[in-house]
Amino acid sequence: MLHRKVIIAIADGIGDRPIAELDDKTPLEYADTPNLDRVASAGINGMMDPIAPGIPVGTDMGHLILFGYEPQDYPGRGPIEALGVGMEVQPGDIVLRCNYATVDSSGIVLDRRAGRIREGTDRIAETISGIEIDGVTFYLKSATEHRAVLVLRGTGLSDRIGDSDPKAPNDGSPYHKVKPLDDSDEAKRTAAVLNRFLQEAHRLLSRHPVNEARVQRGEKPANFILTRGVGRMTELTPISERLNIRGSCIAGESTVLGVAKLAGFKPVTDSRMTANMDTDIELKAELALRELADCDLVLVHMKAPDLKGHDNEPLEKAKAVELFDRLVGLLLRDMPEDAYLALAADHSTPCEVGEHSGEPVPIAICGPGIRKDRVLHYNECDGGYGGLGRLSGMDFVRTLHDLMGRVKKKGN
Ligand SMILES: [Zn+2]
Repeated sequence: MLHRKVIIAIADGIGDRPIAELDDKTPLEYADTPNLDRVASAGINGMMDPIAPGIPVGTDMGHLILFGYEPQDYPGRGPIEALGVGMEVQPGDIVLRCNYATVDSSGIVLDRRAGRIREGTDRIAETISGIEIDGVTFYLKSATEHRAVLVLRGTGLSDRIGDSDPKAPNDGSPYHKVKPLDDSDEAKRTAAVLNRFLQEAHRLLSRHPVNEARVQRGEKPANFILTRGVGRMTELTPISERLNIRGSCIAGESTVLGVAKLAGFKPVTDSRMTANMDTDIELKAELALRELADCDLVLVHMKAPDLKGHDNEPLEKAKAVELFDRLVGLLLRDMPEDAYLALAADHSTPCEVGEHSGEPVPIAICGPGIRKDRVLHYNECDGGYGGLGRLSGMDFVRTLHDLMGRVKKKGN
């Protein structure tokens, strides 16, 4: 079998719609993208629906698929975030995303983000992590600013529970008591122990030195933990193991790095990769090429196009696309001749929607022996005329794995 290597360059949320402000072009059509067009004209093109036409996906699900899993493998946002912030999680763990919040004495949420607390969150987490209630151990780790991840470890637990977070923009509402979402003993037990934990955490945090100092400075105390995004860590075979390959992922975003860990890929990050417009593309390209020397499959991720889509800033999104183009130019310059370079995205984030949509994204693959088609430009329109046609994310990824020589023959 001929084994070859692949780099997938992922522009988060790059897909968009024609916009009047951009002469009725999409940001990708409007942007100056000589390098993306080089990949398109030297390679094979197509349009990809992450799951199926018309189904919007989150960044976590979109990447789960780009790493080689199927939608039913999705473990929930909590486990992915836990892996992304470097927590140990085991199959069976119940994992939740959290916000440190400020509540008053009657349980009204005054601020879902505790004044966007930045300092002292590690000390707060230290105080309450490791608490045990009724045989369940709670592990808490702080992430960026007011965010944290909570792991429940024990027997007889379920992920069929509600949130304690009343969700934005509901400052001024009481926090929710966590409710079981079905009649099982496991769901009732999980909700009960979590509610007890949240009360104990509230008691400890209300008199925590970090919070006492905040109150003295006139800042909001982080005296409550709001939970959401519950998931149960499943027993998944890492993709690297399934394909018998070594994989690596270069990204600045913890969600993407979390999926990478799940998939058995080496997470590579650096504070210079900001998950925004000021991200260091030279560093990303250098690391992607360096990792490719030791790996079979490297994913390199850029977040900026998605942010500009959410913010409904078409011109800025076009600039983010041009940044992605420069990253791809650096990759093209030093790609080994016998490796493939693929362009992809996890979903569309049309500016006018300000959210992810279920429209397909353009894909392209160039490299040795590729069945080159007649497409000359990488964008949402031309991709539809390409040799790959319209395919699902699972089909696209399998196509890449096949080019790598990693898909077993059916039959004999
Ligand atoms: Zn995304």
